[in-house]
Amino acid sequence: MIWVTYVSNKPFSKINFPIGMQNGIWGVNDKKHGSVKDVKEGDLVAFVYSISWLKAEGPTPAGFSRVGKDKLSDFRGMVKKIIIGRVTRGYYKSTDKVWPDDEIYPHRFRFEIIKDFGEDILFGTEFFNQDFVEAARKSACTQGSVTPTESIDVLADVTVPDEPTDDAISSSHHASEGRPIYRVHKSRERNAKLIKIKKDKVIKETGTLACEVCNFDFSKAYGKTGSGFAECHHINPLNLRDENETTTVNDLAILCANCHRMIHRKRAWLSVDELKSIFIQNRPSS
Ligand SMILES: [Zn+2]
Ligand SMILES: [Zn+2]
Repeated sequence: MIWVTYVSNKPFSKINFPIGMQNGIWGVNDKKHGSVKDVKEGDLVAFVYSISWLKAEGPTPAGFSRVGKDKLSDFRGMVKKIIIGRVTRGYYKSTDKVWPDDEIYPHRFRFEIIKDFGEDILFGTEFFNQDFVEAARKSACTQGSVTPTESIDVLADVTVPDEPTDDAISSSHHASEGRPIYRVHKSRERNAKLIKIKKDKVIKETGTLACEVCNFDFSKAYGKTGSGFAECHHINPLNLRDENETTTVNDLAILCANCHRMIHRKRAWLSVDELKSIFIQNRPSS
């Protein structure tokens, strides 16, 4: 069997989670001891620790991280840790002191860590198989009850390798969740083939490559030197679900370098329309 248990970011969890991981022991209280009794030696248990919503994806869904089964796609964002353990001692009951808080968590099992995904892992149905995400969601809604899943499959890069980032932009991305997401975003905007299709389409339709926010046109300002130059911005920061070309081309916006920087300057990222209205408001009236 493969089990999933969600661990919240509550103050006692912050203390108890590392103690459990260091000692290879986990326990739940009387209220949620249901399925923990089925945990057997050799089973796998995935600990999903502390999910946070990424503001770049819009307003936080109501009640997050508790979202209903019908809103599984909202159980997404970044988790602090995912650790997978192999059970070395199946369910047993004990009241020996392990954790410092008042609760004893007597329904226990022991495990050894076989995989640690590291820190800050992208989470959601485009990164992991649906069944695993659903089990984590369900566990989160039931205070960390041990919930079965069929498998744990990684579908996409959950961490993105370091790349040199633009200084001006990276210096304003101190939020711990900002950098990896930003890198995913940038790598998606660097898809040369799509950018070409997008630019060709815009030139064909409008005759120029003007910035969708400020109308700046590199070829008008710089002549031949600027001809064909513009930046592409991905409108849906992490919409990895639609991989077909037409959808993805429509997910790109043509921006000048200045406007693109302004969009990414602060989290949550501005939408193209938001930046456009800011631009219009601040334009000197003539
Ligand atoms: Zn612009
Ligand atoms: Zn962008």
